[in-house]
Amino acid sequence: MEKYLSQLNEAQLEPTIQIEGPMIVIAGAGSGKTRVLTFRIAYMMSKGIDPFNILSLTFTNKAAKEMKERIATIVGASESKNLWMGTFHSIFAKILRIEADKLGYPSNFTIYDSQDSGRLIASIIKEMNLDKDIYKYKQVLGRISSYKNSLITVRAYMQNPELKEADAMARRPRMGEIYKEYVDRCFKAGAMDFDDLLLKTNELLTRFPEVLAKYQNRFKYILVDEYQDTNHSQYLIVRALSDKFQNICVVGDDAQSIYAFRGANINNILNFQNDYDDVKVFRLEQNYRSTKNIVNAANSIIDKNETKLDKVVWTANDEGGKIIVNRSLTDSDEGRYVASTIWESKMQNQLKNSDFAILYRTNAQSRSIEDALRKRDIPYRIYGGTSFYQRKEIKDVVAYLRLVINPADEEALKRVINFPARGIGQTTVDKLIVAANGYKRTIFEVMKNIDKTNVSINAGTKTKLKNFVTLVESFQVLNQSADVFELAEHVTRTTGIIKEFNKDGTPEGVAKMENIEELLNGMKDFVEGQKEIADTTGSLAEFLEDVALATDADGDKGDPDHVALMTIHLAKGLEFSNVFVVGLEEDLFPSAMSGNTRAELEEERRLFYVAVTRAEKQAYLTYALSRYRWGKLVDSEPSRFISEIDEQYLEIVTPIEERRFNPMLSADIFGDAEPNIKANPNKIRYKPAKKPVFKKANAAKKEPEKFQVTTPKNLKPVAKSAGEANLFDSKLTVGNLVKHLRFGVGEVKKIEGVGADTKAEINFQHGGVKKLLLRFAKLEII
Ligand code: ATP
Ligand code: MG
Repeated sequence: MEKYLSQLNEAQLEPTIQIEGPMIVIAGAGSGKTRVLTFRIAYMMSKGIDPFNILSLTFTNKAAKEMKERIATIVGASESKNLWMGTFHSIFAKILRIEADKLGYPSNFTIYDSQDSGRLIASIIKEMNLDKDIYKYKQVLGRISSYKNSLITVRAYMQNPELKEADAMARRPRMGEIYKEYVDRCFKAGAMDFDDLLLKTNELLTRFPEVLAKYQNRFKYILVDEYQDTNHSQYLIVRALSDKFQNICVVGDDAQSIYAFRGANINNILNFQNDYDDVKVFRLEQNYRSTKNIVNAANSIIDKNETKLDKVVWTANDEGGKIIVNRSLTDSDEGRYVASTIWESKMQNQLKNSDFAILYRTNAQSRSIEDALRKRDIPYRIYGGTSFYQRKEIKDVVAYLRLVINPADEEALKRVINFPARGIGQTTVDKLIVAANGYKRTIFEVMKNIDKTNVSINAGTKTKLKNFVTLVESFQVLNQSADVFELAEHVTRTTGIIKEFNKDGTPEGVAKMENIEELLNGMKDFVEGQKEIADTTGSLAEFLEDVALATDADGDKGDPDHVALMTIHLAKGLEFSNVFVVGLEEDLFPSAMSGNTRAELEEERRLFYVAVTRAEKQAYLTYALSRYRWGKLVDSEPSRFISEIDEQYLEIVTPIEERRFNPMLSADIFGDAEPNIKANPNKIRYKPAKKPVFKKANAAKKEPEKFQVTTPKNLKPVAKSAGEANLFDSKLTVGNLVKHLRFGVGEVKKIEGVGADTKAEINFQHGGVKKLLLRFAKLEII
């Protein structure tokens, strides 16, 4: 038997080598479900199954990438390249591009993210003169999204009196009209939103039997991770594709179903056995991820749920430390506790930043934690929330690029038609929208032919519109010969975006400049990276696809050694040595919105189970007695979830200063006021106890080093960005050893050019000789 299979236990081995027929692995957290999928694919390939015939659906792009890398180490990189592995959205976007013409779409269709969709809906609501307080665009978008995920098309909606009635009851009788207009406008703009990627795939597979047959024959083997969180639309796609060969393997854990609010249907996993004949069911029980304390505590949490499949989870790992529960006075104190604990633990146990994760229920909670981490100079990264590609300045640059590929893209056009300002006001844009609707043409087409239209715009404005069209067309020409990086650099310069941010000179302006530089760096990396992959070209279209489908959990690029901050939803499937679950307070976690039904409360509890089971070695639960919410300081009570955990797995700690100065802290979450203080005074302390609390106030306030730039007198900086400043500061010379984020360590062989154009030729240990523009390269001299 293949050697790598010895890295599996017996229960894992069975589903790994069972490659024919329908099967399901149902098992608790950390028991190796994802590992089974990974090894199973490697095994299939080693048995001669063509990777071309394997489709593997994961929850994040990152998970797909990691699985692919793992498989590559077992079967070789060239073989694994042909695997189709990715999220539902990225895989089906790929198929839709190939088959787009059948649905009347161009193959270069734009993918609207939720911000684009929201803006379009807001604009439709405004055009229809509806009351935006009743027709809240986010709620309208939510409704439309749920129709789409239930496969209710506009036509189906119109024929369904119950749906209309429901919307009328919610004081939104014109919901159907908005839905129709939204769908029409997306279609005209050559755009699909996220839900369309699933809806249109379903449409494609239902309306075109030959297309269905083609993909059924191609994907003879289908694997799905995190099956408990598939929605109806995803379920139908998987069903259809696997219908012919029925070689379908799904893995999941009903106890980790946490996306009901987005339409995920837990019944998909519960009913799997009814969907196919002779389903083989496998169970895994041994957890390899976490300590005994964590596994047992997690079991005691999920035990409280009534709706669940009975499962056993145990571990042979060490007992480990108890779960530490910490109470703080305020959310800022909570942030300080987390930061100082990380700082001390790092020092004492020689840990890296990336050994820590901080998980919260809502994105808004990150602020107080971030403040505290910054004060201690602990690098961190926020996953999700306002992710890098969602930042305004990045979206602006990307919008220009989207127009290059698809000038029909209405949202991209509206975003940059007057950014940077070129004297095209909102009134003009409104007129263009009306005209475009009237002529049944795109806004770009109307602008291009503005002289032939009857739009009442003065001559000066017409010239401005024509200039904009010419500008975009000139980018299109450049795109024929330049790579993504070169094009984007040109775009940021010629549109005046760089100038715009440079001139404002505020710290925000500088930060925006740096973000744009980071984007350009990322593009350079993308271009270099894609060259190494045979079947891609590094084209603009591919770059935009990556950007559009970057899931929140993929995070931004940058220093890999950082503390990870994310919502619990995003943390699903991941693992970290030390995990802080913060904000364990009633009405926050469980969320106030979950108070209505038992089912909702149970979903919150599953979320808590997911959170705790991310930890390998140590879990911390924290809560504050008061917290700023909606701009007000509100009192909060500890979450019921803390007291639901079997007490033997917990260690309650509270900072000693707090105890001393705040008599109000005497109330304990278990109701027995301060029982442990007398019995065991050592229990009340910062953890760990040996060291005094870190109080190096000066160091804590110090700005990070990289901002303290000194410029040698004989060199005149041409720009003020941090990247460039580093260059002058660093006095890079031939022979220096440097470290690059992507290429690792290398030796500087040559330096050429001056100022912003300085390039260095560097021989990297892995990656060979590269010529890098120092402005973007962010090298570290070692
Ligand atoms: P989740 O439910 O959180 O997604 P999972 O069931 O997918 O968890 P994995 O992520 O596959 O679990 O595995 C958890 C950890 O245990 C991983 O670090 C994995 O490499 C390790 N692991 C799993 N099985 C084994 C094994 N047989 N030997 C050693 N390590 C293992
Ligand atoms: Mg997993």
